[in-house]
Amino acid sequence: KPEETMSVEKSVQPHAVVVPYPGSGNINPALQLAKLLHGHGIYITFVNTEHNHRRIVAAEGAGAVRGRDGFRFEAIPDGMADADHDIGNYDLALSAATSNRCAAPLRELLARLDDGGAGAPPVTCVVVTALMSFALYVARELGLPTMVLWGSSAAALVTQMRTRELRERGYIPLKDESLLTNGHLDTTIIDWIPGMPPISLGDISSFVRTTDADDFGLRFNEDEANNCTMAGALVLNTFDGLEADVLAALRAEYPRIFTVGPLGNLLLNAAADDVAGLSLWKQDTECLAWLDAQEMGAVVYVNFGSLTVLTPQQLAEFAWGLAATGRPFLWVIRENLVVPGDGGGDALLPTGFAAATEGRRCVATWCPQDRVLRHRAVGCFVTHSGWNSTCEGVAAGVPMVCWPVFADQYTNCKYACEAWGVGVRLDAEVRREQVAGHVELAMESEEMRRAAARWKAQAEAAARRGGSSYENLQSMVEVINSFSS
Ligand code: UDP
Repeated sequence: KPEETMSVEKSVQPHAVVVPYPGSGNINPALQLAKLLHGHGIYITFVNTEHNHRRIVAAEGAGAVRGRDGFRFEAIPDGMADADHDIGNYDLALSAATSNRCAAPLRELLARLDDGGAGAPPVTCVVVTALMSFALYVARELGLPTMVLWGSSAAALVTQMRTRELRERGYIPLKDESLLTNGHLDTTIIDWIPGMPPISLGDISSFVRTTDADDFGLRFNEDEANNCTMAGALVLNTFDGLEADVLAALRAEYPRIFTVGPLGNLLLNAAADDVAGLSLWKQDTECLAWLDAQEMGAVVYVNFGSLTVLTPQQLAEFAWGLAATGRPFLWVIRENLVVPGDGGGDALLPTGFAAATEGRRCVATWCPQDRVLRHRAVGCFVTHSGWNSTCEGVAAGVPMVCWPVFADQYTNCKYACEAWGVGVRLDAEVRREQVAGHVELAMESEEMRRAAARWKAQAEAAARRGGSSYENLQSMVEVINSFSS
């Protein structure tokens, strides 16, 4: 080629199309990663589902999805009727719908973008989150390089990748229903996963809790974890020091791994935050003012993420447990936390609770969690152990009271409590005395506070120039740039 042509080609801006699974747990880290890549000169198209696009506009205003120079938004249908989104715990239905019905609209979108149809540079690569492997197939058909942002811990990925072996060794499917409740899950120890300490069957993804070999959740999660390896590279929101052994084992099998967590730390350092947040819920920022008025490290922060559902009894036990601590607390009671259409907030709290906690209670329906966790007033975090929440808690150096209920949350909880020493676990059956006791422990334990401070410092070091996550992001950007040169 004549030199001139080559240099023209080289000057084309690389363009990453980012396609998250349509839930907060994946949209948030995908947006953080997209902002970081944008800060490194990469043109971004961020693809939401139409349903979420409308929700974001309702919660944040149209500005949130209007885009910026070189950062644009697109939306594709998610294959579900709007009404079906309101039925509460719909995640598996959503997984089935996206994987069965989103391929065609995504293919069309990628082809249009690649043609320059949207005024964007040709597509350089497609970055999808976990649970979106249909998008990997689409990208492959179109000859586009891919990367997967795995939304959970490396430990969760490794255990989920081993589902096949769990089948072969006879652990799953469970032989009968009684094994779900008779202690079998806790006493069955798996000590043969490379890079992992012995772990009980109950500490790995809850999708193994089935007697049906073809259970959709089990199959889907098994396939999705293994399909990640189809991508050209795997991106993890964790840092090397946090999961050293399990990452070493993973890299031995699959070397193209970029650990770039905690993403929130990299963003803070990069100050690349000119693109708005994308919340599916209207955020309550008044709780930040409330926190400003509290003493340092005094507040118990309670939030169970975007999907967890509580029974009215569980909610009442948490409530009275918090009341018994006598401490100020910020509790995010999301709409649909108990039943579809419940509206969330104060209205769901038991009778007499408001009076019992007057003057030390702040209830919100959704908050800017990363900012809340980093607020100096927060002393501990009562969490469902979702990976983003766990990672944000580690990054903020906040001890955790863990109540895992679903999917990878058990694995994250085990690492938080045992490997990192920053958490204490509640029993599945919520009891107010234990809630109060564990909160006291997390607030008072010098050991947990010191461990949390150590991990916070390590997270900060990983995200600074020369740190593993900082350098991995640079390498990831170089790889994307190399696709377009
Ligand atoms: N989140 C938030 N405000 C809230 C609750 C959650 O910003 O009131 C964010 C939280 O910071 C995290 C994500 O939503 O980034 C939840 O992800 P996670 O993996 O913790 O749990 P999931 O919702 O997927 O169960």
